[in-house]
Amino acid sequence: MRCLERYLKRRASRVPERCRLGRRSKTCQRQRLKSIAGDERGSVLIITTVIMVGIIGMVALTIDGGHLYFRHTRLQDIADSAALAAAAKLVETPGDEYEKRREALGAAVRYSELNGLKAGVVDCSLGGYTVGISDGEETGRMTISFSNSLDEIEIQIALDVRSYFARVFSVNFTPVSVKAVVRIGQAKFQKGNLLPVAFFWGDYEPYKLYTLTLSPGSGQKGNYGFLDYKPSNMFREYMTDGYDGTLSVGDVIETYPGVKTGQVRQAIQERISRCRDGCSVSYSGGKVDVNIMPDCPRVVMVPIVSGFFEQQGRGYVTIRGFAKFFIESYDDDAKILTGWFLQEAVSTEFAPGTSGFTTQAIRLVK
Ligand SMILES: [Zn+2]
Repeated sequence: MRCLERYLKRRASRVPERCRLGRRSKTCQRQRLKSIAGDERGSVLIITTVIMVGIIGMVALTIDGGHLYFRHTRLQDIADSAALAAAAKLVETPGDEYEKRREALGAAVRYSELNGLKAGVVDCSLGGYTVGISDGEETGRMTISFSNSLDEIEIQIALDVRSYFARVFSVNFTPVSVKAVVRIGQAKFQKGNLLPVAFFWGDYEPYKLYTLTLSPGSGQKGNYGFLDYKPSNMFREYMTDGYDGTLSVGDVIETYPGVKTGQVRQAIQERISRCRDGCSVSYSGGKVDVNIMPDCPRVVMVPIVSGFFEQQGRGYVTIRGFAKFFIESYDDDAKILTGWFLQEAVSTEFAPGTSGFTTQAIRLVK
């Protein structure tokens, strides 16, 4: 109100005293017109100022909003990749639940650090961990939590993102938070590296040494036998280099009863001799030590099957899962394949059912 009064006074003061009483002389009319023109100049200034403040505000909002959007997208990417890396570690780490969780935490921290976040103090909380994080002057926290059955992992990142223009209005930081959830379940598909050998579904455990008898007889005798991925004359190549097609849980595969065990021995010996890195899996001091180079020819994927049936003199089995297997040796006489079940996380669809020793699929669900 006071401003308005001052404005009216100022306006009045611009018109000479003698003209304020309504005189109609030309001089007075000119004076009045001048006064109005002066007012318009003032109004333009006020409007310009309002528009400028508006424009600056819009620019500030756009730039800060754009920056927030960029940071949100970036943090979501970090959370997604950290959760996938943590889930893979959770699946592939030998040992107990505590070791699996700790390795998953390590993977999440490594991934966030690779993406420019600095990790600080780690707090162990019920069902997970909280890690202090920072990026320059931006600070926050990352929480990693696990479901009870370790089939789900959730990563939340909350960061106070700095403002640029909004600092004018004393808004220095805006909190941004993202969440990624990865589910772990039995993998549905396996592409490549498939050995034409199947194990019957059993109570296997990963990172344990097994001696498996490959003498199928009619249906199941021993731990199982050989598969015919077709064409049948490729069996030896599939034994040596693996079948590189894609198989799915639920597929029905013909068995291969007429295998010459000499072929199997030679193929396995060839695989072992092609491994020049001294790859090994060993058990000492209550811990499994896995020392395997990538693409080691001794590592194969084996279908886990069930439901043997015969039709027109041929035997068939149904695939229920895939197991990663490290070959130690093959005994030609006893037809015994010795090796370790390993565990692997792959990015594929889920198969129905759960299993602790078959290949696991990891997928972002949120
Ligand atoms: Zn090797």
